[in-house]
Amino acid sequence: MTSLHPKLQALQNRLAESPLVQIHDGLFQAKGVEFYIKRDDLLHPVVSGNKWRKLKYILEHALNLGADTIVSMGGAYSNHLHALAFAGKWLGLKTIAYVRGEKPDVLNPTLSDLLEWGMQLRFVSRAEYRQLRAFKAHDSLPDLKVGQYWLPEGGATELALSGVAEIMREIDTEFDVLVAACGTGATLAGLIRAVPQHTKVIGVAALKGAGFLRKDVEQWLFDGEARQRDWSIVLDYHFGGFANSTPELIGFMRRFYSEHAVPIEPVYTGKALFAIYDLLKQGYFEPGQRIVMLHTGGLQGARGNGFG
Ligand SMILES: *Cc1c(COP(=O)(O)O)cnc(C)c1O
Repeated sequence: MTSLHPKLQALQNRLAESPLVQIHDGLFQAKGVEFYIKRDDLLHPVVSGNKWRKLKYILEHALNLGADTIVSMGGAYSNHLHALAFAGKWLGLKTIAYVRGEKPDVLNPTLSDLLEWGMQLRFVSRAEYRQLRAFKAHDSLPDLKVGQYWLPEGGATELALSGVAEIMREIDTEFDVLVAACGTGATLAGLIRAVPQHTKVIGVAALKGAGFLRKDVEQWLFDGEARQRDWSIVLDYHFGGFANSTPELIGFMRRFYSEHAVPIEPVYTGKALFAIYDLLKQGYFEPGQRIVMLHTGGLQGARGNGFG
């Protein structure tokens, strides 16, 4: 075990535990399966979920390189930018973000937080935003100044996968199926790499028409791994597309919250949870199986969606 940069260690020390909690629900019992949620949402109110997991070793790398600024990109409700701005402030790193779309007259709660934590916002057109996606390596963005570290969309880099892999080391119960919501698929790839060989990993796409995701995830996997591992992405639970929802989804989420007191949000975790219940009804899981959903956090994003 190598030790973390002291500043990062201090931030990690502020985080809470992420327990594995069993959800007691007659529906699962009736099918003979057990259902657990890995509560990464509890790590911290802001630096939570997979965004912390993905940022951890990226920030470590940047600090060790002596970077003083992290430059990244995201949408106006981005959980990634939200976690990055907060972590940057804590670590004494400047942060700059390219934000998709025009600057709104009234800033939403996410953007207000970013500014409050000192992130410099540069609003760019959708076309410019798309072009930024071409730059992957930390030094690849043209015109980066000395000390600036580039972080691509969603914090999706090789180092992000190492942080995600740590989640698996924290789970000391055996389980058969692991389910997580997918945006870029980087988290899913990190999980596929880290789970025991026999475990099935299911990604639930939050985007509509996410057929491309399988290839994106494969790019993160080692030779042969993509074929040897048991994993799939379900594409039918996007509820109209990214950040869209339906009364059916919201109703389901409200019922789940009132029965189990685990907060979820409609962009990612609500969809993943809905998918699990729907697959359960379809008889997808086998009796005796243990299913774990990774709660990827992101509850702040729900503030703009009339939920939470
Ligand atoms: C960003 C995010 C995801 C998607 O993670 P990827 O690594 O981009 O697939 C899932 N859930 C939540 C809550 C997120 O904020």
